[in-house]
Amino acid sequence: MGMGGHAGGLDLGQILSSLQNCPCGREHTTQIEQIIVESGAAVRLGALLCQFHFPKTLLLVADKNTLAAAEGVLQSLDEWGFVVKPQIFDDLRTADMREVELIEALSAEVGGILSVGSGSNNDICRLASARAGKDLCIFATAASMDGFASDAAPITYNNFKHSYPARQPRLLIADTAILAAAPKELKSAGFGDMMGKYIGLADWRVAHLLIGEYYCPRVAALTKQAADRIFALAGRITEQDEEAAAEVFEALVLTGLGMGFTHNSRPASGAEHVVSHFWECKKLEHSLVSDFHGKKVGVATLACMKIYGRLAETKEILPVREQIDWDEVYSAYGEVLSEAVRPLHDPTTTEKITTEKLKEAWPEIRRVIKELPPYEAMRAAFAQAGAAAEKEEIGVDAKLFAQGFRFSPFMRDRLTLLRLLPMLQKDWEELYG
Ligand SMILES: [Zn+2]
Ligand SMILES: [Zn+2]
Repeated sequence: MGMGGHAGGLDLGQILSSLQNCPCGREHTTQIEQIIVESGAAVRLGALLCQFHFPKTLLLVADKNTLAAAEGVLQSLDEWGFVVKPQIFDDLRTADMREVELIEALSAEVGGILSVGSGSNNDICRLASARAGKDLCIFATAASMDGFASDAAPITYNNFKHSYPARQPRLLIADTAILAAAPKELKSAGFGDMMGKYIGLADWRVAHLLIGEYYCPRVAALTKQAADRIFALAGRITEQDEEAAAEVFEALVLTGLGMGFTHNSRPASGAEHVVSHFWECKKLEHSLVSDFHGKKVGVATLACMKIYGRLAETKEILPVREQIDWDEVYSAYGEVLSEAVRPLHDPTTTEKITTEKLKEAWPEIRRVIKELPPYEAMRAAFAQAGAAAEKEEIGVDAKLFAQGFRFSPFMRDRLTLLRLLPMLQKDWEELYG
């Protein structure tokens, strides 16, 4: 796998063989045929697509920024005889079902879809290619978020962020020179998204403990190792360094692979992602575009680390049957969004947990939390990585920030530590302090 000679690297074959006969009982497979991360991949893109027998007629999806970043790609495709139909957006900052439908319709006349970009661009293409049954190649222009290799796509529909089953790209290609030249803000966002994995993995273990939710220790370990590597790399994130950029990209890809291996977003996202989705949806209600995915996730991650850390200080808990003021919950979502939320609570996820069970599992839950990196160390790493740490940096005001921690846990049918707070008679704000 052309790794351009940097340390580590991502060997798909080796990862797949390490997951054989997995103790979780599931067979782990992937739709991804090849992952190529190398310097100069842009000018070799045509040759690479030929080598892997990618269809010769392409719908190229990008926005003006990502296309400009991918210098050399168009010429290379031309040289290798690809017929390219371009769909270039002005500045794609949200991934909405309208764009998915557009790409799906446009792809009718081509053999495959080539997504040139990062976040929203890829989310749209992963879902559109699945719906249209077309081959997908992602050419990544920035290591800014975790969706490259995922088999689900977060897409807004009527302003609500849904996670749709989608398709993994057949080919995933990145040019380390382009990744390294990406804006610092995007690189720092990738760091923030990656740090969210710690919270996601803790939430996953807690759900496994309390409600017996499916859990794969090997996939969890892969994600954890990837997060550890990026945590240790904090000081080099914003450098224009191909090796560091490749490391972050591969870590983000690995977490996407983990989602694909388990057909579940648990390995890559927990309470912090849902908080970020909540902020995004509430802003969309007022037609406001949010900040970058990884940037928001990072801010939510730091806050979750603080909240979870404080929670673990409680040695003895007195769990109760939770008293949720559902009218208050639905009014926080508003009329339109609560349409999507109501069906998730019949029954609500905590009804599967008895107070006895929670009390019995508490020492183990505390151990899970204590394995998280310490909040202060994480905060320092965020500063080193140039990652946003405060709500002001992502244009979220105090009210929206608070609503996110209070009400986002109801946005999914999913158990997280944040969702457990009412049963623990704890208030996020007191813990956050
Ligand atoms: Zn497994
Ligand atoms: Zn993410």
